[in-house]
Amino acid sequence: MVRLIVDAPLGSYPVLIGGSSLREVRSVVSRLDPTGAAIVTDANVAPWAERVARALKPLRLKTSIHIVPVGESSKSMAALSDLLRSLESHRLERSGVIIAVGGGTVGDMAGFAAAIWQRGVRLVAVPTTLLAMVDSSIGGKTGVNGLRSKNAIGAFWQPSAVISDLACLETLPPTRYREAYAEVVKYGVAMDRGLFNLLQKDSARLLAAEPASLEQVVAQCVTNKALIVARDERDRGPRAILNYGHTAAHALEAASRFRISHGRAVAFGMRVAAHIGLALDLCGPRLVEAQDDLLTAFGLPDKPPPIDLDRILSAVASDKKARAGRVAWVLPRRIGHAEPGHAVPTAIVRRVMRRALA
Ligand code: NAD
Repeated sequence: MVRLIVDAPLGSYPVLIGGSSLREVRSVVSRLDPTGAAIVTDANVAPWAERVARALKPLRLKTSIHIVPVGESSKSMAALSDLLRSLESHRLERSGVIIAVGGGTVGDMAGFAAAIWQRGVRLVAVPTTLLAMVDSSIGGKTGVNGLRSKNAIGAFWQPSAVISDLACLETLPPTRYREAYAEVVKYGVAMDRGLFNLLQKDSARLLAAEPASLEQVVAQCVTNKALIVARDERDRGPRAILNYGHTAAHALEAASRFRISHGRAVAFGMRVAAHIGLALDLCGPRLVEAQDDLLTAFGLPDKPPPIDLDRILSAVASDKKARAGRVAWVLPRRIGHAEPGHAVPTAIVRRVMRRALA
């Protein structure tokens, strides 16, 4: 098992990564000395949540399990208020702990409940998807969706511990598992050449979820995210690098009314960003090719289903990270190094996108 410490301004916390790290949940929770525990999960991962509940039994804590709707619909104000009602009826005190067992949707929503319930209770994250292990469980962004905009209501709230048990991935649908590699490749291209090389070398082992490779890669992604979060917890500067590939990805997701999965959209977005980098002479064709090959090795298709170019372009223009109407692209210079804050002429974006969709 790998044990890392994330050192963020709002607090440091351990991240345990391994094939049976759930065994540690009792000692992790016991160290927090809570007066009660509220486990939050969804129906697909409830067996893992029950395992957590059983592990906590010897602590004789008052423990509840709250099951939220499966998928993005759990990140709603309605689902949040159901959860808050449940916390109230189970009388979770200020000294209690919320344990989020699930993917990024459960983690974001339960994390936000932890940030606001009793003005803040401790949170233990037990991510059960690869995306949640490498990305959403680290860094303290929590929240739910607004009526029209994603992640519109939220707070920064760091967990007290993260327990990533790789065995949870055994029950994850294979497409979900594979598509999460878009975010993993993102770390490699944007900030970690060593990780990129490792992914090239180990893609087959990783696709087969070989434990030693997986543990190494998850730990490396967490380290990368932790380094950025330590510098810019509130996403006011350097954290923007983690947005590599996400400008075009978010636009594609919005234009497809979220019919295209996030992983596929991020793969598309990274391909677009690399071609824009090439058009602006920021990077060379070898980077574009190496990134392409790696995404393909992880089964991330190079073309999204047919979608109207103008709809994507208008979604780019209303990117939520734009300031005063200026969209800031994160563009690669070389493998392992991308730069945020690039303004790109619309004609170039249009030309690259048209080719990427053709
Ligand atoms: P998800 O949480 O929606 O889970 C995907 C599906 O897999 C769900 O149906 C879930 O029930 C199921 N599932 C989860 N774990 C399983 C397991 N072990 N076995 C079987 N089924 C399982 O998807 P996700 O990709 O983990 O998270 C996406 C969310 O994360 C989005 O809402 C996104 O906005 C958010 N996110 C947040 C951050 C952050 O920094 N907070 C970063 C990236 C993404």
